[in-house]
Amino acid sequence: MNTYDLLVVGSANADLVVGVDRRPAAGETVLGSDLVVHPGGKGANQAVAAARLGARTALLARVGDDGHGTLLRESMESAGVDTSGVLVGGAPTGVALITVDPSGDNSIVVSPGANGRLTPDDVRAAGELFAGARVVSTLLEIPLETVAEVARSIADGARLVLNPSPPAPLPDEVLAVCDPLIVNEHEARVVLGTDTEGGPGDWDDWARALLALGPRSVVITLGADGALVADASGSSRVASVKVKAVDTTGAGDAFTAALAWRLGTGEALADAAAYAARVGAAAVTKEGAQVSYPTAEEVAAL
Ligand code: ATP
Repeated sequence: MNTYDLLVVGSANADLVVGVDRRPAAGETVLGSDLVVHPGGKGANQAVAAARLGARTALLARVGDDGHGTLLRESMESAGVDTSGVLVGGAPTGVALITVDPSGDNSIVVSPGANGRLTPDDVRAAGELFAGARVVSTLLEIPLETVAEVARSIADGARLVLNPSPPAPLPDEVLAVCDPLIVNEHEARVVLGTDTEGGPGDWDDWARALLALGPRSVVITLGADGALVADASGSSRVASVKVKAVDTTGAGDAFTAALAWRLGTGEALADAAAYAARVGAAAVTKEGAQVSYPTAEEVAAL
C-alpha cells in the first residue's frame, strides 16, 4: 500500500514581483509598483498542481528559517501537500527577483538559497517518503548530486519522472532511470548537447536521439502544439487542447505533475500525457503559476 501517489523532490521559491515602466540599466535605479509575493519554484509548483488534482502528494525540499519559508509551507499545506519532508534551515529560502515591464517582458534573478543546500544526505534520510511513493518527480533547481541520489533511491516498482529544468547535461546513471524524461525544445537541446538551431530533424528524430541516451521513455512538450511521447515501442503525438492562453507561467510544471500522477495510477504513457495536456491547457487560461492550477473537476469541464 503506497502512502503517496507522488513524491516531488525539488525547489520552493518565493517569487518577488515588481512592475516597472522600464527595466533599469546598469547603475540605474527605477521606481516600481508595490511588491507582490507568489509561492513558486518548480518543485512546489508540481506538488501543488498534483495535490489540486487530488493526488496524495508529498514534497521533499528545503526552505529557510524565515517568513518566505513559512509562506511557502502554508500555501502548500492549504493545497493539501504533505510538507513533512520540507526541511528548514541552512540558508535563506530561495527567491526569484522578477521585474515585469508593461509589455510583459520580465527580467529574473534567482537566488537558490536553501534549494542549493538540499543534499544527498537529506535524500538518504527521507527513506520513508521514497518507500511510500509510487512515482517520484524531480528537476534541476536542486544540486545535480542530489538528483543523482534521488535516482539511486527509487523504490522497487516505483518510477522516476525528471524534467531537467533549468537544463544541464545529465549523468548516465540518472538518464537510465528516467521514465519518462520530460523536456521542452530548449531542454532537449541542452541534454543532447546540440546547440544547432535545427537539431536532429523532426520531433520523432529528437525523441529517438533522446532515447539513445538511455531513458526508458521520453516526453517532448511543445507548448500550444501539445506534446510527443516515445519509448522503445515507438512514438505518438499528443494533441493540445485549444484554449485562450493568458499566462503560460508554470504550465510545464502542471503538465509534469499531472503526467507523473496518472502514470502512478497505471495509465499508459500516451493516455497520461493526454490528461496532462488538458491540465497544462487549463493552467495557461489563468494568470500566475500555482494559483492557475486546475482541480480534477475543472479539467473534466475543459
Ligand atoms: P514552462 O513555461 O512552464 O517552462 P514548458 O516549456 O516546460 O513550460 P510547455 O510546452 O510550454 O512546457 O507546456 C507544457 C504543456 O502544457 C504542453 O505540452 C501543452 O500540452 C500545454 N500547453 C502549454 N501552452 C499551451 C497553450 N498555449 N495552449 C494549450 N496547451 C498548452
